[in-house]
Amino acid sequence: MNEPILSIKNAVKRYGSVNALDGVNLDVAEGEFLTLLGPSGSGKTTLLSAIAGFITLDEGRLALRSTDITGKPPEHRDFGMVFQGYALFPTMTVRENVGFPLKIRKRPAAEIKKRVGEALEMVQMSAFADRMPSQLSGGQQQRIALARAMSFDPQILLLDEPLSALDKKLRADLQWELKDLHQKLGVTFIYVTHDQDEALSMSDRIVILKDGAIQQEGGPNALYDQPRNRFVADFLGKSNFLEAAVLSASGTSCQCESEGAVFDLTTQEPCRQGETITLALRPERLRLGLPGEEFVPATVKQVSYLGERCQVMVTRKSGEEFLISRPTWKTDIIPTPGLEVSIGWDADAPVVLAPLNQE
Ligand code: ADP
Ligand code: MG
Repeated sequence: MNEPILSIKNAVKRYGSVNALDGVNLDVAEGEFLTLLGPSGSGKTTLLSAIAGFITLDEGRLALRSTDITGKPPEHRDFGMVFQGYALFPTMTVRENVGFPLKIRKRPAAEIKKRVGEALEMVQMSAFADRMPSQLSGGQQQRIALARAMSFDPQILLLDEPLSALDKKLRADLQWELKDLHQKLGVTFIYVTHDQDEALSMSDRIVILKDGAIQQEGGPNALYDQPRNRFVADFLGKSNFLEAAVLSASGTSCQCESEGAVFDLTTQEPCRQGETITLALRPERLRLGLPGEEFVPATVKQVSYLGERCQVMVTRKSGEEFLISRPTWKTDIIPTPGLEVSIGWDADAPVVLAPLNQE
């Protein structure tokens, strides 16, 4: 990474016995779309609030382009913000709302007019300039909040679950628009969501948080393909888990045994004969066959039809379940509850997870 626009060093924030941030180190690259992803209570809002300057860290430092801003008040950080509970001012028109950050920065009236016009155009809301927020739909209000956050050319845009209150279709539309906007403006986005699909589809880079600590970070593809631990494998997309014993190993090729089934495995790191490993298997990487066709016998438990895909829950002989995701277009086996089947996968389909004590 070139010089990061924002650098977070050992950020710690405690609330009583809760470590809301447990020593977070993170560099944000200029112009990137960075997403903080994690379940509720993982510290996303706390981290974003610390970046914004709304809360003071117990430990750690923040630097903007190498200049320390740890103690700087929010209004001097020049970050655009779309936060929950940071709603539009209900007694101001759309135009006044969008112009507000410029007004408090004492910009000349002509400049305010010009920038408000541009910001409204950017979110395609020019026609609504004289409305009151109460006369707008939820999606329109979010667009205005975005325009307000961008009107003063912020260095960084901070967005805390800006789309979470919207229905699915509108959310998807605005996801595309946000991505477009990011591309057009080239501004650094730090985006918070608990929605893995949103994170995967929008981000240049995703940081996965749990209990105030970073679990893993990387591009959507890399994170999805190579989750490091069980938490990441299960939180970003779905995963099946399987314990396996390594029967023999030669470099990154080995033969494994699990529940009586023997199969080949290709790994990233070399395995050792005799060790027990945990495998994560993506549902779409599993094959479904008739009994005997594949190497793990199972029974179909439940089938869920999702349009372009169908999800099949099967029970292995051990009683453990596997979730399989299959395209619905031109597939041979039509799974129904109670059907005896067999499950298989390619040698390079599973990911070997870090042992629990190394997570
Ligand atoms: P997220 O945004 O990922 O849902 P938060 O950053 O809001 O998570 O919260 C992280 C943890 O810190 C949670 O356990 C939450 O209950 C706690 N927390 C956050 N803010 C406060 C606060 N003002 N007082 C006490 N506990 C807080
Ligand atoms: Mg939150």
